[in-house]
Amino acid sequence: MPPHSAAEPSRQCKVAVIGAGAAGLVAARELRREGHDVVLLEQQGQLGGTWIYTDEVDGDLLGRDASRRRVHSSMYQGLTTNLPREIMGFADFPFSTAAMAGSSIDARRYPCSEEVLRYLQAFAQHYHLTELIRFNCQVQSVQHAPAAPAAPAAAAAAGPPDSSTAADIPWKRWEVQWQQLPAATSPASSSNPPSPAAAVAAAADGSMYTELFDAVLVCNGHYSEPKLPQLPGAEGWPGLLMHSHNYRSAERFKGQHVAVLGASFSGQDVARLVAQQAACVYLCAREWTTQQQLDAGRGGAAANIQRRGMITQLNAAGGAEFAVGQAVPQLDAVICCTGYNYSFPFLDLQALGLSTAQQHVAPLFQHMFVPGQGPGLAFIGLPWRVVPFPMFELQAKLCGRVLSGRASLPPAAEMAAWVQQHDKLLAAEGRPPSQSHYLDYKQLEYHAWLASIWCLEWCDGVFCQRLLRETSPPPGAGQFILAQHALAHPRLWRHFLDDKAKP
Ligand code: FAD
Repeated sequence: MPPHSAAEPSRQCKVAVIGAGAAGLVAARELRREGHDVVLLEQQGQLGGTWIYTDEVDGDLLGRDASRRRVHSSMYQGLTTNLPREIMGFADFPFSTAAMAGSSIDARRYPCSEEVLRYLQAFAQHYHLTELIRFNCQVQSVQHAPAAPAAPAAAAAAGPPDSSTAADIPWKRWEVQWQQLPAATSPASSSNPPSPAAAVAAAADGSMYTELFDAVLVCNGHYSEPKLPQLPGAEGWPGLLMHSHNYRSAERFKGQHVAVLGASFSGQDVARLVAQQAACVYLCAREWTTQQQLDAGRGGAAANIQRRGMITQLNAAGGAEFAVGQAVPQLDAVICCTGYNYSFPFLDLQALGLSTAQQHVAPLFQHMFVPGQGPGLAFIGLPWRVVPFPMFELQAKLCGRVLSGRASLPPAAEMAAWVQQHDKLLAAEGRPPSQSHYLDYKQLEYHAWLASIWCLEWCDGVFCQRLLRETSPPPGAGQFILAQHALAHPRLWRHFLDDKAKP
């Protein structure tokens, strides 16, 4: 059901946005455009999240020790984007070399991570978002404020929220507790010019602060908490075991025999990079279940990459056995590119009626809202196998409008029914609950739902212009639909992927 829309905002909220990565930044822009008062809380000393490269790694390379020293970003040397830059930009501020005039260092269609970081910095500068960020502020807890007033404080001037804007759920305020980390020890220290808030932060000493907000947008990313496969024999195995979250560069694998577990985007990419230094890389996947599929990998990009099934046994002598393919007598390292878990250490999931037990966040209406909690708590960026930046932007626009009263959520029962229907559909498709936020081709439908109340505004943007020129759009379709069509066009994708190989 498309959200209800109204012409004028009727409410101004004080909103905490947790995280100044791509999702948090565009959320801040959309919220401010909608008239809200925004505070961006960021644990690191600079903006950019995932796109900040650091040599630092977690205290435990596999990520099993819950009390380990943590680094947020999983970025590594040699990464180039897996999407063309034309679809990695936000509307009104395309990720083109022109938009970043003077600062672009990598004009390729699939640029390096530093170029994406520069784009996000340029975006933040252009929309004056840096002044909203409190750097080195790590959110420790988010919970309902004890005696919640009926409406956001700022709403007094505009009148209390009506039932159409808050659905059937009473408005709840949130108490956000955050710790001011000393700048030098926060994950990945700043190279940004300090904002006034950052200047305060620099003087701080680990103190805790509590502040009330009308709404909280959770934009903390989901590529930091390693998900591990079963590794029988790992305890006595003498080699190096690590998760790709802590992979930084291939140099340490020079001349070694390395198994890379998982052959999705990061597994393939890491295998390709490590193979430039290693003697041999064994790229292990569940999907390669026959000798034919193993053989299909031969003669590929790197002659020293061999395919194997997943590891079934690591032995004390240093070798490994695989579900499919010949055992290897001596391996030096295993890199698990096996994905990430959703993690919200600052939320009391149980109190909110949420769970991440099945590797997705449930129950959530449209991957964003908790049925029964109203519009004051929302998650941005949970879906995967998507084109992330445009999706963040659309989700953020919806949040901004729901909070301002220009759109409304359905009643709680309807949201819960949507979740049930979504789960049923997933099961009917034979997919596990862990794929609940996996969108893939369904992202087009999802974008259309998100955009359904501001499609015209979106259509005026320059989003995907280049893609649109290179595909054959259906006659009479709006610009937004055209962009979706372009994204879905398999021939076009192939063209872009071929292009990635070019300098
Ligand atoms: P992040 O970028 O992770 O930002 C979250 C922010 O929240 C961080 O700054 C973090 O410090 C902060 N934070 C977390 N917890 C707290 C807390 N308690 N208090 C305060 N702040 C907190 N996407 C693409 O579109 N193209 C690509 O080519 C691509 N390649 C990728 C390669 C890798 C290796 C990885 C890991 C991801 C890649 N992605 C790619 C996906 C990418 O993560 C998203 O595009 C996007 O950058 C995620 O943005 P985000 O804001 O949701 O999360």
